[in-house]
Amino acid sequence: MTAESRVPQPAQPPPPPDPYVETATGPVSTADLGFTLMHEHVFVVSEGVPSNFPSVWDAEAYKKRAVDALRHLKERGVSTLVDMTVLGTGRNVPLVQQVARESGLQVIVATGLYTYDALPHYFETRGVDHMVDLFVRDITEGVQGTSARAAVLKCATDHAGVTPGVEKVLRAVAKAHRRTGVPISTHTEARSQQGLAQQDVLESEGVDLSRVVIGHSGDTDDIEYLTKLLQRGSYIGMDRFGLDIFLPTDKRVAVVARLCQMGYADRMVLSHDAAVYMDWFTPEILKALGPNWNHFHILDHVLPALRLAGVSEEHIQLMTVGNPRRIFENMSSY
Ligand SMILES: [Zn+2]
Repeated sequence: MTAESRVPQPAQPPPPPDPYVETATGPVSTADLGFTLMHEHVFVVSEGVPSNFPSVWDAEAYKKRAVDALRHLKERGVSTLVDMTVLGTGRNVPLVQQVARESGLQVIVATGLYTYDALPHYFETRGVDHMVDLFVRDITEGVQGTSARAAVLKCATDHAGVTPGVEKVLRAVAKAHRRTGVPISTHTEARSQQGLAQQDVLESEGVDLSRVVIGHSGDTDDIEYLTKLLQRGSYIGMDRFGLDIFLPTDKRVAVVARLCQMGYADRMVLSHDAAVYMDWFTPEILKALGPNWNHFHILDHVLPALRLAGVSEEHIQLMTVGNPRRIFENMSSY
């Protein structure tokens, strides 16, 4: 008998629950998603800076900070965090996978590309189908050499609008969505109503807009714009609570309460777009951006304010549990 033959064979992993969603630590039944923060980040770092200048990046320290924060979120009743970090915001799924494992919080990871205008040179000379293949591979095989499969597609449209680079990403995301069935969740500049432009491009690719979350819609109190997005069937991300420079919390709360009154509680999701560690700003600027821009603001302040504004428990449950579940349950390709 060789030494090798005595080693017990690893058991086959159990078949995934049905219906299920992939997370950084494996498939989870959509019934177990629970309270879900739909647009967050664990780490946001300037693409390529830490790998070129390792002295600015302390993986162990930032990982510990993240494990502590996510563990604390879990203790507070959050079950799932959707990490919308992709190429362009320093995606590091190997590290996020460790953070998910050690904290016990379910973390859903994303694929896609974050740019407001130009593409990385690599993609300039290659066709949209190549980009689609890379996104699909992240979804079907795993991200950055890990076993973590992406379960959401990300694209961005900001003040520059649908530039040629942005359009290529939108079309690639649409095609990858139709091939795999994973939902689309976006970044927009609400002030310039980029959500509508995004819907136009996605719709032209045959995307069912009810399978799209138009992100950062909570940055505006323009109810007319928001109802236009909603009437086309999309979810809207009320997902920057704490980023007061775009819209203060009381105004964000008033918009959500108003839209609940109008019958749209089944089309909104709540989040912060916050990161445990972000290198885009100095610590001083980060502090000035808003003392409440962190992963606990919804639990600490927003939910109590929504209740005071007359939002029912049933509607809060929809926006934090029911809608995320429905978004990740609809995973059929077409
Ligand atoms: Zn974001």
